[in-house]
Amino acid sequence: MFRLWKECEGAENIVISGHVRPDGDCVGSCMATYLFLKKVMPEARIKVFLEQPADIFSCIQDYDKIETECHIDEAPDIFIALDCEKTRLGAAEVLFDKAKKKINIDHHISNASGCGDVNYVVPTASSASELVYDVIDKEYMDLEIAKAIYIGIIHDTGIFQYSNTSPKTLQTAGELIAFGFDFPTLIDETFYEKTYVQNQILGRALLESIIFMDGKCAVSYVDQKTMAFYNATPKDLEGIVNQLRIVKGVECAIFMYEIGTQQYKVSLRSCKYVDVSKVATFFGGGGHVRAAGCTMNGSFYDVVNNLSEHIEEQMVQVKY
Ligand code: AMP
Ligand code: MN
Ligand code: MN
Repeated sequence: MFRLWKECEGAENIVISGHVRPDGDCVGSCMATYLFLKKVMPEARIKVFLEQPADIFSCIQDYDKIETECHIDEAPDIFIALDCEKTRLGAAEVLFDKAKKKINIDHHISNASGCGDVNYVVPTASSASELVYDVIDKEYMDLEIAKAIYIGIIHDTGIFQYSNTSPKTLQTAGELIAFGFDFPTLIDETFYEKTYVQNQILGRALLESIIFMDGKCAVSYVDQKTMAFYNATPKDLEGIVNQLRIVKGVECAIFMYEIGTQQYKVSLRSCKYVDVSKVATFFGGGGHVRAAGCTMNGSFYDVVNNLSEHIEEQMVQVKY
C-alpha cells in the first residue's frame, strides 16, 4: 500500500496544493496532509498553497499558514496535488511541472490514470480526504488531522447523503470522530450555516429557476450584476445546485454563474441515471458521475441548449 511518509523520505522541500476555487475536500485533504507531514518531518520545509479558501475553514489548524500567492520558487523536491489533476492547480501548476517528484491523490473519474509519478487515484472514494486517511500512518493521527479529514469527507458526501458514501467512508468517519472533536458544531458551522446574503441569493436563484425536459431538468443562473448587488462571491453560491437537484421529478440539475462576458462556471448534479462527468468532460471540465463542473461560453440559452443535448442523449439511452 502507498505510504505518504515513505514516498516523501529524504525530501527537504515539499509543496502541497489542490484545485482552484478550493472546496471543503480540497482544503481538508491539503491541510490534513500538511499537518501530518509537518508532524513526521519537522525538518522539511513544507508549504501549502491554495486560492483563498472560505472563512468557514478557519477552524482547521494552521489555516493561517495557507499561502494564497504562489511565488515561483526553487523546484520542490516533492509536489503533492490533491483532489484534482494538474491542469486545475491554477498558479501552482508551474511548480508541479518543476517538481523532482510528483504525487497525485485524487478521486475524480475524469483523472482516473493520475498525473503524478506516484498516483493514488480511486474514483469510487468519497473524497480525496478519505484517501489521505488511507496513506498516513495511523500512529501519528491526532485530533486536528482527524478534524481536517472529517471536514473534507462531510463536504464531498453532503454529510454522508450522496451515493459516493461507502461502508468504508462511514468506518473512516467513525474512527475520526473517536478523536473527540465537536462534530455536530463542525457540521453546522462549515456545512449548513448560511450568511444572510447566501440565503438571499439562494432564494433568488430558486425563484428564477426553470424546469424543462418534462420536469427532469432544473436550471438556474446568477449573473455578475446580481452578484455585485448582493456583494456575493462564488463561495456564496455553493449549495444552490444541490437545492435544484432535490426538486421532485428532477434527474439533472444545472447551476451556473457568470464569470466573464458570456462565460459561465457550470455545476451539474444528477440523481440516478445521467453521468454528468461525461457531459462536463465533453465541454472541457470533469468531475464525478453525480457531480461535475466545467466552464462554458455563450449566452445562458446557448449554454443550456448545448448541455441539454448531451443530457437528453443519455436520458434517451436509459429510456428515462
Ligand atoms: P462543482 O460543481 O464546482 O461543485 O464541482 C463538482 C465536482 O466536479 C467537484 O468534485 C469538482 O472538483 C469537479 N469539477 C468542477 N469543475 C471541474 C473542472 N473544470 N474540471 C474537472 N473537475 C471539475
Ligand atoms: Mn474538490
Ligand atoms: Mn473531492
